[in-house]
Amino acid sequence: LVQHFLPEIGLRWLAAADLQQEVYRHLAAYVPRILCLGPSSSGGSSREGEELAYQLLLLAPLEWLLLREEPAAGLAQLQENNRPSPLCGHVFKVGEPTYSCRECAADPTCVLCMQCFLGSVHKEHRYRMTTSGGGGFCDCGDAEAWKRGPYCQKHTPTDRHTEEVRQLSVHLSDMVARGYSIFSIILKYAVDLLTCDQEEQLPAGLEPPERGDTYYCMLFNDEVHTYEQVIYTLQKAVNCSQKEAVSFATMVDRDGRKSVRYGDFQFCDQAKSVIVRNTSRQSKPLRVQVMHSSVVAHQCFALKALSWMGQIIQYSDGLRRILCQVGLQNGPEGENSSLVDRLMLNDSKMWKGARNIYHQLLMNSLLMDLKYKKIFAIQFAKNYRRLQTDFMEDDHERVVSVTSLSVQLFTVPTMARMLMVEQNLMTTIIRTFVDHLRHRDLQGRFQFDRYTAQQAFKFGRVQSLIGDLKYVLITRPSEWTNQLRLKFLEGLDAFLDLLKCMQGMDPVVRQVGQHIEMEPEWEAAFTLQMKLTHIISMIQEWCSTDEHVLIDAYRKCLSALSQCHCGLPDGEQPISLSLAGHTVDTFRYQVSQDKVSIHLPVCRLLAGLHVLLSRTELSSRVPEQLPLGELSPPLLIELPLRCLVLCAQVHAGMWRRNGFSLINQVSSNLYAGASMMDPNHFLMIVLSRFELFNIFNSADVRKRYREANKDVVQQNNTLIEEMLHLIIMVVGERYVAGVGQVEPFDEVRREIIHQLSIRPMAHSELVKALPENGNKETGLEGVIDIVASFKSPGVTGRGLYELRPEWNKNFNLYFHHYSRADQSKAEEAQRKLRRQKGEDTALPPPLPPPLCPLFGSLVNLLQCDVLLSVEGAVLQWAVESSGGGWTESMLQRVLHLVAMSLLEEQQQLENNRDDDVTFNYTYKITREAPSPSGSVLALLETLQKAPQLEVHKDMITWIIKMVANIKTMREQTASTSTVSVCPGHGAEETVRDRDKAERKRKAEMARLRREKIMAQMSEMQKHFINENKELFQQSLEELEASTSAAAETRVGRAEHRQLVTCILCQEEQEVRGHSRAMVLAAFVQRSTVLSKNRRHIVPDPERQEPLFMHPDLSLGIHTASCGHIMHAICWQRYFEAVQLKEQRRQQRLRGHTSYDVENGEFLCPLCECLSNTVIPLLPHSPDHRCTHSLSLPVSVNHPTLEAWLNTTNQQIATLHSAHRKQSDGQSPVNHLEDKLNPFSSSIREMITTFSVSTYKVGLKLNPNEQDPRVPVLSWSTCAYTIQSIERLLMEEEKPLFGSLPCRQDDCLSSLTRFSSACWTVAPLKTVHTHFIRLFTALFPDSQVENTPCILDTDMFHLLVYSVLSYSSVQSLDQSGCSVVDSAHLHLLHLVTVAHLVQILLTSTTGQYTHTHHSSVLSSGWQLWRCVKAGILPFLRAAALFFHYLNSTAPPADLLVAGPGHWEALCSFLSLPSNLLQVHQNQHTLLEPWCCHPGVRQTLQGGGVIVRFPRESNRLIELPEDYSVLINQASSFTCPRSGGDKSRAPTLCLVCGSMLCSQSYCCQTEVEGEDVGACTAHTFTCGAGVGLFLRVRESQVLFVAGKTKGSFYPPPYLDDYGETDQGLKRGNPLHLCQERYRKIERLWRQHGIAEVIGHAQEANQTLVAIDWQHL
Ligand SMILES: [Zn+2]
Ligand SMILES: [Zn+2]
Ligand SMILES: [Zn+2]
Ligand SMILES: [Zn+2]
Ligand SMILES: [Zn+2]
Ligand SMILES: [Zn+2]
Ligand SMILES: [Zn+2]
Repeated sequence: LVQHFLPEIGLRWLAAADLQQEVYRHLAAYVPRILCLGPSSSGGSSREGEELAYQLLLLAPLEWLLLREEPAAGLAQLQENNRPSPLCGHVFKVGEPTYSCRECAADPTCVLCMQCFLGSVHKEHRYRMTTSGGGGFCDCGDAEAWKRGPYCQKHTPTDRHTEEVRQLSVHLSDMVARGYSIFSIILKYAVDLLTCDQEEQLPAGLEPPERGDTYYCMLFNDEVHTYEQVIYTLQKAVNCSQKEAVSFATMVDRDGRKSVRYGDFQFCDQAKSVIVRNTSRQSKPLRVQVMHSSVVAHQCFALKALSWMGQIIQYSDGLRRILCQVGLQNGPEGENSSLVDRLMLNDSKMWKGARNIYHQLLMNSLLMDLKYKKIFAIQFAKNYRRLQTDFMEDDHERVVSVTSLSVQLFTVPTMARMLMVEQNLMTTIIRTFVDHLRHRDLQGRFQFDRYTAQQAFKFGRVQSLIGDLKYVLITRPSEWTNQLRLKFLEGLDAFLDLLKCMQGMDPVVRQVGQHIEMEPEWEAAFTLQMKLTHIISMIQEWCSTDEHVLIDAYRKCLSALSQCHCGLPDGEQPISLSLAGHTVDTFRYQVSQDKVSIHLPVCRLLAGLHVLLSRTELSSRVPEQLPLGELSPPLLIELPLRCLVLCAQVHAGMWRRNGFSLINQVSSNLYAGASMMDPNHFLMIVLSRFELFNIFNSADVRKRYREANKDVVQQNNTLIEEMLHLIIMVVGERYVAGVGQVEPFDEVRREIIHQLSIRPMAHSELVKALPENGNKETGLEGVIDIVASFKSPGVTGRGLYELRPEWNKNFNLYFHHYSRADQSKAEEAQRKLRRQKGEDTALPPPLPPPLCPLFGSLVNLLQCDVLLSVEGAVLQWAVESSGGGWTESMLQRVLHLVAMSLLEEQQQLENNRDDDVTFNYTYKITREAPSPSGSVLALLETLQKAPQLEVHKDMITWIIKMVANIKTMREQTASTSTVSVCPGHGAEETVRDRDKAERKRKAEMARLRREKIMAQMSEMQKHFINENKELFQQSLEELEASTSAAAETRVGRAEHRQLVTCILCQEEQEVRGHSRAMVLAAFVQRSTVLSKNRRHIVPDPERQEPLFMHPDLSLGIHTASCGHIMHAICWQRYFEAVQLKEQRRQQRLRGHTSYDVENGEFLCPLCECLSNTVIPLLPHSPDHRCTHSLSLPVSVNHPTLEAWLNTTNQQIATLHSAHRKQSDGQSPVNHLEDKLNPFSSSIREMITTFSVSTYKVGLKLNPNEQDPRVPVLSWSTCAYTIQSIERLLMEEEKPLFGSLPCRQDDCLSSLTRFSSACWTVAPLKTVHTHFIRLFTALFPDSQVENTPCILDTDMFHLLVYSVLSYSSVQSLDQSGCSVVDSAHLHLLHLVTVAHLVQILLTSTTGQYTHTHHSSVLSSGWQLWRCVKAGILPFLRAAALFFHYLNSTAPPADLLVAGPGHWEALCSFLSLPSNLLQVHQNQHTLLEPWCCHPGVRQTLQGGGVIVRFPRESNRLIELPEDYSVLINQASSFTCPRSGGDKSRAPTLCLVCGSMLCSQSYCCQTEVEGEDVGACTAHTFTCGAGVGLFLRVRESQVLFVAGKTKGSFYPPPYLDDYGETDQGLKRGNPLHLCQERYRKIERLWRQHGIAEVIGHAQEANQTLVAIDWQHL
């Protein structure tokens, strides 16, 4: 039917006179019958049916119509003729990795997909890797996007591409017409449906034949309501379960809309009104529509049709172009009426899903072809204003708005320029931006302080326009046309209008009152200024490439500034200032009382352009074209100066306002102004603005100030410091190309030197400290290796750069980017360095680079009279030294200024030896007397002797020496040119000089001696600190490694009595059976670290039978201890106090602690280690028993196996009858009689405490002392802990004995002794029954049921359990201790034999799957080797067990690491070293073991077969390159929501599962609580403990239980030895094996919970995170 039907429809359509009518008729009939039938939550089968019908009845006819043949064949044919676009155009999914090349990308928005990247040249370059936020596409093949290597291997154009664009081949030529008409019809259909906001009506021709009363209640997405609100509302409105509501909410969030109810109109309308009512209280209600089902069906098909077209055009470039034409062709309405226009203009009305689909189609079609991309870009630019306005009104994120396509269009440089010229794009963007900021003050400036939340939200959105402007300007033109100049300057006009609205906005007036009620909104204005800073520098870059533009821009900027300034001095009183013989006219203005603003963007732009004039030397070449004469220097400096004074006053604490943080920025306007003014005038104005003029002008005023209150004095001191700093900046900061004669390279180098002068820094810290250019590059790479050496990181920490010593001389204490804190740190570091090298500690300024001519006159500031008088004044105060009138840092700045002046003079002398050097600072400071106490130099000499100025002495010495040097230089110059005029005077001076020199030499000697001693002392001190630092910094494991020696002595000590000290009361006590109990803090946890079967499902704890451990060790109980000992009673008191504190805390505030007190958790009072119980300390040998070493040879006193078996069997028989009697109702002898019990009641109580803890944790049950499983779990944790420690020692290749750290050693010995004693508190019958059952596992007995087969038993557990339970049996028999030991020996032998059989049985099966057994066990030798390897872990664990049980000394051979301890091990365990000998003697046992039905069943595949040796578990293998993981994660889809991308893909490091974390979709209920995927996973994979890698964040996550978790640095490092948590920097990351092994070791040591505990204690914010939702 189908085969006939399809071509038939196609043919009928072909014959039709009106194809559109015909197609519409078909769609009208079928679409509502196929799509969107009924509630969408219906089962899967109808979905499949829907999909099939849609394929056959809707798509296939279209394909037939287009191709006129079987679609598959037709498409293949098309593809053959396809000439794909050279552009890759791969559209990025959320979270997919993108790559950019720091060396070759035209701008940072140019990115490659992973495939293209791997096939490109850039993978050898310095690349950046980031994860995509979705949208955007691969720029491979776009020649404009890359300076080099624009094509990857796959997209390199071949001849086929370079050919002239052909028409479709003959075969396809008639398809053009068909394609054209089909695309027209379908695209129009889709656009009509998506853009109409009708709920009932369909476009003409699509009305359904029969119209039922079937509706959908459609819920739309918005960004106002939270998930929780939506879920809650839905549960109420449509009566669904929480789960359904979550699923609805997820879909709404993902697709933008979702039908939540299906039915007749009334039914849907009712739900709608409930939703609206419920969500309209606080905000605007959720958007809900009741839509007719046919409308929904057609919209649904419209989307599918768009996707279909997107797919079809992939097969043929011809069809792609046709679709572009169809889409861009203007409709009957003329301008802006093409289908694409209609889509764009209705963008904000569509729901998210629809937008995504049509955006994707645009990218696949229009943007893949330069010609159509251009047309589209023009349309986009034409509609720009309207699109942006729509975007402002809309509340969806920008990624789903069509406006986000700007990055695709504007970053293509030719396109951007074309749009600028033809569409005046730059002006449009700026004007649109300005129009959206409506709030203005009276002067027309922006006003942000009265923004409502709604307006603030819009302000957030309007900022994306600045982003667009940045794209347009990101690459500066290499060639200018007149048109471009015109439009750029027009844009600049608009930009200046914008800046004028910002200049002086948000002015502030100092509040003098005590309390400020409301902080004015300053953040918005500040954000705006920061964002525009980039644009300003881009505009400057553009100007720098063309002289005409630069000159015009300068003029425009200047006139903008004077417009801002007009009326500035109005109403301000003119005054005249005079100081040091100079007078200047200005006006009265006080920053502290009048309005001041920090926003001066016009000044900033002008300053930059002024520097450009200097750099390009335009100012000197064509001065006549420049309006330099119009500049009024005082005006130029006025506003920046006010701003700086404001900063200074903030520093001085005069502006007490919260959050007022300003970046201390020196505006280059000051340079410009100062260079054009008389230096004395400049300084006087500066003094006046700082409100300091009178202090320096009149001694009286100063005196008055001094006597004023302390706050005022201090404020003035700070202001003077700031003012001096400003002068240092203006004269000394020359590292800007154009101000000083430097290259950009020099600037970066200087920045780095000064950063590294503070301390060695990591790469990322340096990057953060350096300013970035438009391409986000700092230039760091080009310089760093010259000035610094790299120290690679160890296992912790990160790689650091250290300044090479030869660059220290470039250090400038008053580096302009230093904060005060930086400055003092750097000063300290530098002084220390000099002291260490035995140098003096003077930190004179480095030689500055020469100034450019335009700024050349700045140096005159240094020797102007006003400055000299200021210097003199400060020195004078220092000499008088009376009270708080001056500060050391004031003096330090003056000394710095003096030194700068001297350096300047020296340099000028050196450079022009012959000429008369006009700069004569030395003359001025020696001859002039600004103060009564003499010249500046004389003051300095006085100060040199002042005892209170020890710190500055070296600097003063340096200055005086320098003055002498310069004098000599001048004299030499003078003597060569002129004959010395006055020889006598000269001689006199030489004598004085000689005297002085002698004095100085002596002083110098003394200083050197003093310094040598100081240096020695500091060296010693340093040494001491270093040693201790190492001691403290040693991580726990290193400490642990160093204890092996200690452990040996402990073993030797074993025989002696044991004295311990309680950490709480500090009392010493001997550990004895009848004394007060001592306990060790301990932590018991479930563990799957040794598990060989992670799919094991934990059975219901009530029915769990723990007596036999399965050899897969799927779940064990691990005990650890920090080794700290307390009295039981002290601990109990401590724990009660903790509980009380917790109760009180909970009443006060609902906070959290890092430990769960209700679950018995506490922190060790000494080391804060997480603990949840205590282990009692028991004496080495219980009083009633004598010690025997297991290593004793089997002596004649010991019964043979047969004899022992007989005795034991008799005992068991006795027990059986005794038990029967008991159950017959006689009074039970339940416990060991008190007189027989070797332990005091307090010790017994603690034994019970620990037993019950293991029971509670191991089975997750409420404590129940009477449960017969209690002793089993105590034995279990002993066996499991020994086993896991044996594995650790093996893996780390440490010796079996003597290498354990004390705390583990203590833990194991007390754990073993406890387990051997725990039967004393249990009902005897219980322990006996256990022993009988364990014994029958070795000697099958028909009387006992449910004996497991030997393949289902872990032999070490069996050994431990039977040995420990045997004690209880033996206690009945008082015949002597030797029996106990021999019994242990017999049990060991029996279990060993059983294990051998187990190994042999499992090794012969499934050889092909197991590498250890891959070769057929052909020879006996091979078999022996295999058996030995298999049994070794068991023997080692047994040796540890008996060592701790009997406190025997281990053989010396086992105290050293290395292989080949087989003999020593066997002899320690009294086993023959040829184990098969033991085997031979017991062959009678083989039969019952092997004939157990379970053996056959397991070997035939009925159960988990575990082979021996069990390999130690490792964490999963991670790829070397992190991007592999990112890629893997980006293709990972949420397992619950049908192919949806996961937001937080997270990798389990234990088993390798990828999880969809931190998301509603994957929440699961665990123990009655909804938890996220990670937490849920830990319960199946890690018994509550988990290690994950959050792939998008590049962060390791540790989770324990539901409430605990912490983050841990990932094992991935960049080339600079740093991790990149959050993937912010994007450097390539590679696996660091060492760090990964460290994490693995933590896991194997069961240390995760402890790490989390410590992390949470250290950082309280971690406690508040809802870890269970991850
Ligand atoms: Zn690509
Ligand atoms: Zn490519
Ligand atoms: Zn490159
Ligand atoms: Zn105590
Ligand atoms: Zn401790
Ligand atoms: Zn896992
Ligand atoms: Zn999910």
